This record gives sequence, C-alpha cells and structure tokens, in this order.
Amino acid sequence: MLLAALVVLACPAAHSQPAKTPTATADVYDGLREKWKTMLTGGDVEAARPDYVDKIKAVAKSAQEARATMVPVAERAGCKCLWKDIATETESADITKGYGRLKDMALAYQTPGTGPDYYHNAALRDVILDGLDWMHANRYYPRKQYKNWFDWEIGTPMHLNDIMVLLYDELTPARRAAWIGAIDYFSPNQAGEDGNYMYWGANRVWRVTVHAGRGIVGKTDAKMLLARDGLSDLSDGHTGKRSVFKYVTESDGFYADGSYIQHFGHAYTGGYGKALLSGVADAMYMLHGTPWQVTDPDAQNVYDWVYNAYAPLIYKNGQFMDMVRGREISRHGATDTKASMTAIGAIVRLAQLAPEPHKRNFQRMVKYWIGHMSGYYKGVSINIAGLSKAIMQDPAIVPMDEPVMNKVFAGMDRVVHRRPGWGLGLAMNSTRQAYYETHTFNFENGKGWYTSEGTTYLYNGDSAHYSGNYWPTVNPHRMAGTTVDAGLVRTDQSGYSWNPLTYSTKNWVGGTSDGTFGVAGMEQDAWGATLTSRKSWFMFDDEVVVLGAGIESTDNRPIHTIVENRKLTPAGDNVLTVNGARQATPLKPEATVFPKAKWAHLAGPARNADIGYYFPDGTDIGLRRESRSAKWSAINLKNTPKGDPTFTNHFQEIWLDHGPNPKDAHFAYVLLPNKSADEVGRYAARPDITILENSAQAQAVRENRLGLLGVNFWNDAPTSVAVGKQKNYVSSTHKASVLLKETPGGLTVLVSDPTQRNEGTISLEINRPAKSVLTTDPAIKVEQLTPTIKLTVDVRQAHGKSFAVTLATTADKNKVQ
Ligand code: CA
Repeated sequence: MLLAALVVLACPAAHSQPAKTPTATADVYDGLREKWKTMLTGGDVEAARPDYVDKIKAVAKSAQEARATMVPVAERAGCKCLWKDIATETESADITKGYGRLKDMALAYQTPGTGPDYYHNAALRDVILDGLDWMHANRYYPRKQYKNWFDWEIGTPMHLNDIMVLLYDELTPARRAAWIGAIDYFSPNQAGEDGNYMYWGANRVWRVTVHAGRGIVGKTDAKMLLARDGLSDLSDGHTGKRSVFKYVTESDGFYADGSYIQHFGHAYTGGYGKALLSGVADAMYMLHGTPWQVTDPDAQNVYDWVYNAYAPLIYKNGQFMDMVRGREISRHGATDTKASMTAIGAIVRLAQLAPEPHKRNFQRMVKYWIGHMSGYYKGVSINIAGLSKAIMQDPAIVPMDEPVMNKVFAGMDRVVHRRPGWGLGLAMNSTRQAYYETHTFNFENGKGWYTSEGTTYLYNGDSAHYSGNYWPTVNPHRMAGTTVDAGLVRTDQSGYSWNPLTYSTKNWVGGTSDGTFGVAGMEQDAWGATLTSRKSWFMFDDEVVVLGAGIESTDNRPIHTIVENRKLTPAGDNVLTVNGARQATPLKPEATVFPKAKWAHLAGPARNADIGYYFPDGTDIGLRRESRSAKWSAINLKNTPKGDPTFTNHFQEIWLDHGPNPKDAHFAYVLLPNKSADEVGRYAARPDITILENSAQAQAVRENRLGLLGVNFWNDAPTSVAVGKQKNYVSSTHKASVLLKETPGGLTVLVSDPTQRNEGTISLEINRPAKSVLTTDPAIKVEQLTPTIKLTVDVRQAHGKSFAVTLATTADKNKVQ
C-alpha cells in the first residue's frame, strides 16, 4: 500500500471569516526577503559541487545572452525597444519576456559562483537598473492593458517582484515605490470576479505569489494578508468558493478521490496540476512561520494531494504518467520525466513546512524517485537541488517501498494499477471526460484521438518507453488497449473537446478497487463512427484480464482491438514468440496473421520489460513490426526540437480483427507483464483466471489463487453471473462494478456506481450464506445473511466511490467450485 497517513491537527473550529489582521516588524520582511532570495539563487551552495556547476553556468549563460542582445542606450530611440526581437508595444508577452531577461541578469548578479563578470559586478548592475528604468518608463506603468491580462497581472509582476527581491539593496526607495505602484495598479485585489475562471486554480496561486512578493518588497501587512486569504478565496468579501484547497465535485480542480481536472473534462494532474502544486508549495512555504502563515484547515488537503493525486501517477524512474498530461505529451521539451521533476521539486518544498508524519513520508517518497532517476538535478532549481541532495545524503531517511496499489480516479476516468516491477495506467472517456485535448492556435496534440479510448499504458523496466520520441512516431490510430474503427480516416484535431464540446454519450465508465486489486469498465462510444462496445479490465497480481463484448458497428469498416503497440529496441530486433515458436520479425508495413494463437511473448528492450499475452479463446492475431519515422511538428507546431529533424522508432503491433460490421462480437486477452516466454507458456497451460461471463450483460472474471471475483454489470436490469455449477452466484439489480474478495472465514464485497448517475440504490445478492457483518460502509445496508447474502447500496452522490462490507463466513463454505 502507498503511505496513507492522515494527520490530526488542532484546527480552528471554523474558518468562514478571515482571521484578525496580523502585523509585523520590518525585521520580519527582511528575513522573508532573504528566504525568497535563497529560493531564487539557491543561497549559499557550494559552487564547485559537480551537481551545481552546470546549473550555475546556465544562470550565467542566460544573463550573458540577455546582456549581449540588449539594445544600447544610444540606439534605443530608433527601435523604441530594449530588445529587437521583443520590441512591440502591442504584444503583452513582450513585456513579460523583457522583465524575464532582466531577471536572468539579476539572478546571475546574485548567484554565487557565476564569476566576476556577473556576481556582484557593478557594470552589470547598472545595465540592469537602466533596463528596469526603461521598462517602467515605456512599458509597465499605470496605463490601459493590451492583449493578454496574464502578462499585466501575473507574468510581469512575478518577474518584477523577483528582481526587486534580488536587487533590493541596490534600489532607491523611489524606484521601488514606482514599480510597486505599477503592480498595485494591475493587480490590486485578490480574486477578481467570483465567476471568472481567470482567477481559479493555478492562476489564483500565481496571483497570491504576486501579492506575497509585493507585500514583502513593500513591507505591507495588508498585501500579506491578501496573499494568505487569497489562497482560501476569503478576501475581497468572498466566502471561499474558489479556494485552491477545497475539493470539487465538478469542473476544474482537485477531487476528493485525487483526480485533477483542468478545462472542464481533461485529466491534468501531470500538466496544470503539477504547476499548481509547485505554486502552492512555494506560496505556503513563503508564508510559513510568519504572522500570515496559512491557517485554513482545508490547507491540510495539500498533503493529501501528494499521497492521493501525485504519488500514484509518478512511476519508479520518475515518469509522470502520460495519461494525465493532456496535450503536453505532444511537446518535445516536456517529457514525462521533466513533468515529475516539477512535482517532485514541489514535494521537496512541502517537506520544508509539512508536519510529521508528512514531512518524513514526503522525504522518503522523493528519495525513492530521485534514486531511480537520471538527470533530476539538471531539471530543478539550484535551491531544490540542494534540498534534494540533503535528503539523498541523510542516512536516516529510508526510501519508500515500491508502491503496490490499485486506484480508480473516478473524477477523471483514469485507473492506476501498480505491482512490483510494473504498473498499468488505464485512460477512458465518458460523458464527463473528453476524448483528448488539442490546442487550435498552437496545433498541439492534433493526433491525440485515441489517448483515452480504453488506452493502456504499461510501465516496466523500459523506463524510456513513452519518451525517446514515442509520441510523434507511434501510430496514433492504433494505441494499445483500444478497440477502434480501423478504416476510419481521422483528420488532425477531429473529435477534440473544445469547439464544439465533444464527449461520449456513455456514462458507464469507472470501476471498483480495494486499494490493491481492482476491476474497471468502459462503455465505448467511438467518435465519428457507429462503433460501440463494452470493455472490462480485471487487475490482479501478475495479470490484467481484458474483456470486450457487445462490439457493434455498421460502417462497413474493419474493427480491431489493439492488444499491443510497443516501442522496440533501436534495432527493432526484440524476439517475438507465439505459441512457443520464435517468429521471424522483419520490419515491414504489411500485416501477417497468426492463426489460433494461445499465447505470445515480446522480449523487452531492457531488463524487466518482457510482456506476455495469453489468449484464452485461442484466436487469430494480427502481427506487424513497423519502422515509423516522423517529426515532432506532425503533432505540435510550437514545441519542436531545433531544426525539427525526423526521428525513427520501431513498433510491434498485436491485434484482434473483429471484421467489418461486427454484431455482438467479443474478445479476451490477458496481459502478463515481466514474465519470460517459458513463464507465459506455463501460465497459458494453467491460468490463474477463469472467465465466468463475457457478454453485453455482464463481464466477470475470477482469480482463483487470490480468491478474487470481479463483475461489471452493464444494465439497469436484474442480471446474474454463474460460478461453475452455482447459478446466480452474484446478481445485481442495476449497473454496477463489483469486486468480491474471499479470505479464510471472510468475504469482502466492494461495489460502485460507475455511471455516477444512479440517484437511488444498487441491490446485490450473493448466493451463499454469511454469519455476521464485521465492518461496513454506512451506505451499505445488509438486508439478509442467510440463505443468501442480500445487500442494498445507497450510491446517491457517490461520485464513483467504492463501498465495502466485510462479512464473516463459514470457512468450509468459502471455496466456490
Ligand atoms: Ca495471478
């Protein structure tokens, strides 16, 4: 299990009103300025330390570039600009960029180790001051905004605050007062209009950062209060509706189950969510230990986010699972590992202020990830690198154990299954969750059509699988795990979520979990085609059973289920074995068919990266080993590598062909990660699992060794599933996802309403007796224990939550034959 510690703190009874205004002496502000400066420069780090040399060089290089390209005073009248490439007085981003370059120079001026040309160099200081005076006189002063509000209210003042913190002692009071006046003009209050999404989530946090910086530089208590209460949305007469700490049940923000949504229907924990965590951690750290320390009891949720929202989705080597990164997967410069560097850095920051046991838990988590990552120190600031190094070198901090867990993120239609040595991400869509997100202006992620179409993302010893130019080169029509209309031609950005809003019409999407094992399901409504299906995933110890049923289409195009589409070694020479026979695997675009496959095995490109596939029905499988070449610009026109070169990867595809116009077609396969070919062959001869039913009414699988039985009931009609000779072993009145777990003398029943639309109850009957109720969720009413077990589950407003009841049973009756 993942660390699931909850802290009990003495909390103020209520927090509906802002607390009394605290005041501070000037000394507090001087200390805060130093604290902020250390966050920016890294403070007193040993410049010679190998881990920092490159970082400090990079700080100097940015300053050198900014200074070399700055237009000299004598030539400035001509272009009316400070830099020729950002010269406009119509594009607000040019202002933010200009202050960004001045900040680069100020950072080099104050960062130890940058060398005599930068560190405390008087000539450099004068250049910076001249630039700042020019920007204030010509760009950023009280005036009418143009273009993007963000630059005036957040982007520019964040840089300007940093600059004033760095150069505080070099600035005359008149300069500080003038620049502060501009910030106050554009960012006077905390929240803007209550209904305005511009001041929600990450934007709210950044605005808080603006006010905290402004308060510190100007030594203004009221602004510090504005920062503190802005996080909780308790300033400007507001009552906390848009608090960044509060859980939501719809639209954007964190959900109680750990989901994070941005842009109304997109899973974004590893995108916008990581930026939010980073901003909140910095803001809370800044205010921590001051008269304006955050006292909102809801702020405790930030610690829960780390356990429930972030940790499950960051895999061993620091891969932030791509299924929660939205359109960022299409950015060359934004790999899964870079995303987690931001999140891990934020958790390092939180460990500076979190109470125990969170502090130690967070340190153990980051030690686990950093210990398995390469390049971490290059991806974080000098300050975070130094703090991380201290954690790594502290023998008292023991890295956390590899997380072993199962979690349904019902708020974002994502499921994670983590086992020793491998992890599976499952991304789905529904009435609640979009197919994918693209970006029309920047043309980002224009081929993300099938990234949450029951798509499976397998993480194992091949830590670079989803990086290494995976996204431009993978066949985007044929993502692993999906059932697709293989003849449908997709245009770039078709079926995307924004304009018009395009969602599936199906809401049976979700699952049930006991925290270690789980069952998930998705009723599919394919975009742009008549294809529909019902699919289930049963996540056990060494296998994931995937079932499809009720597969229908009338478009006269072939329907395929993509069992695998895996990136291979650079030579493309991974051994593929089917039914025990090693296959010739030439790289070519044509497909071959292997008849009556019982099992297959694909050797991995790294240790602990083999994948086995068991086909219980003995089925024809399509095989193709393809070399694919593409440029990043094929999926993103803005964020591409220099020169936009062509990259090549090789892929192994394995699929099932349901033919054109399937009617009630079905399939079954079992993923067997990290097994050798011999082990897969042995598993196929004696599988742990029994498929009890695979129909459009119910899909049910039993893991016989573990005593686990998962059932997805697809209809609001009485439906029963048999187990062996026992007819009607488990029955449900309504759509439900059910997991039964047998232990000696006990039976745990877990159930959820995956539709999140049942406004009443689900009644379950299990055809066996029980002796007594051991523990139960209050939402479950045990109606009868003998001769059959009857339960009623109140699922109103449950938001997909799994409810559990544990019953004592007679041990000898426990084994179902
Ligand atoms: Ca098993």
